[in-house]
Amino acid sequence: MNLLKKSIFICSGLLILGGCGESEDSGASEEETLSVVTTTSQIRDIAEHIGGSQTEVKGMMGPGVDPHLYEPSQQDVQALTEADLNLYNGLSLEGNMGDVFENVENETPSFAVGENVPKDMLISGGEDYPHDPHVWFDPDRWAYAVEAVRDAFIEVDEANSEGYEERAQEYLGKLDELDSYAEEQIQNIPEESRVIVTAHDAFSYFGDAYDMEVKGLQGISTDAEFGVGDVNNIVDLMVERSIGALFVESSVSEQSINSVVEGAEERGQHVEIGGELYSDAMGEAGTEEGTYEGMFRHNIDTIVSSLE
Ligand SMILES: [Zn+2]
Repeated sequence: MNLLKKSIFICSGLLILGGCGESEDSGASEEETLSVVTTTSQIRDIAEHIGGSQTEVKGMMGPGVDPHLYEPSQQDVQALTEADLNLYNGLSLEGNMGDVFENVENETPSFAVGENVPKDMLISGGEDYPHDPHVWFDPDRWAYAVEAVRDAFIEVDEANSEGYEERAQEYLGKLDELDSYAEEQIQNIPEESRVIVTAHDAFSYFGDAYDMEVKGLQGISTDAEFGVGDVNNIVDLMVERSIGALFVESSVSEQSINSVVEGAEERGQHVEIGGELYSDAMGEAGTEEGTYEGMFRHNIDTIVSSLE
C-alpha cells in the first residue's frame, strides 16, 4: 500500500486503541516501513542496501529464475499494486511484464532502473532487443542503475533522503572495488584465451568492460531455440582457438552447452565445463552468491580459474 493509504490505515488502527497521535500528517515518519518490490535479485540487492532498516524489500525472482520468461502471478500483481515503490530492470528484460508495469504505474511509482544507463553506453541486442538488457555485469554501467534506485527512494520518501544518499555512496564504492578486482584478475588469463562461451548472451557488457570475447549459444533471450548451426559455430570457434572451457548458467538449462562439449569431443578438442556462472539470477539468499558482490566475485573467480 502506498504511504498515504498506510498512514490512514495505521491511524484508524490507533483510533480504536484510543486516539491518533500528532504524527498523523508528518508524511513518511521515521517509524514507517517503506515496502518495495523488485523483479531481479540484482535490483533487490541494491534496494536492500540503499533502503536500509526502514525498508522491506520483496524480490519477485529468486535463485534460478529466468526473467526473460517470467510470468507474473496474481500475487505478484497484487504485491506490485500494494507496494510503495516498484523497481525493475526494463530494456525488455522482463519480457512478459511490460504491460503489468504500465498498469500498476498509476497505483505505485515504478522505475525501470536499467534504463538509466545512458543510451550511448548500451550495446545493441540484435533482432529481438533494441538494447541488450544485461547491464548489471559491468559495474560502471550498473552504477547508473544504483543512482536510479537512490533517486526513486528519494522521490517517494524525501524525508529520509540523507540516508538513501549515504548508503548509495557506499554501494557505488563497492562497485568500484569489484571493478578493480575484475580488472586485476582477468590479467591472469592469457590474451588468446579470453573467450567466455555460455548458454545465452548475458555477458556482452562484461566482455566489453574487461576486453573478453563473449559467445552465447542462444542469443540475448533464452526463449529462442538453439539450432545445430549455432552449436557447430561454437564448436568451430573452440577447436580453432583451442578454448578448453565453457560455462553453464544457473538460470538456463545445460542441454545446449552439453551439445557443444560433445561436438568438440568428436573433433578431438577436449572441452571442460568450467563451472556455473550466475547470469540472470543470483544464488540462494543467505549465501555469499546470494549478494551482488558475492555473485560477481564468484563469476570472476570461476572464469579466471578455468581459463588461466
Ligand atoms: Zn538473460
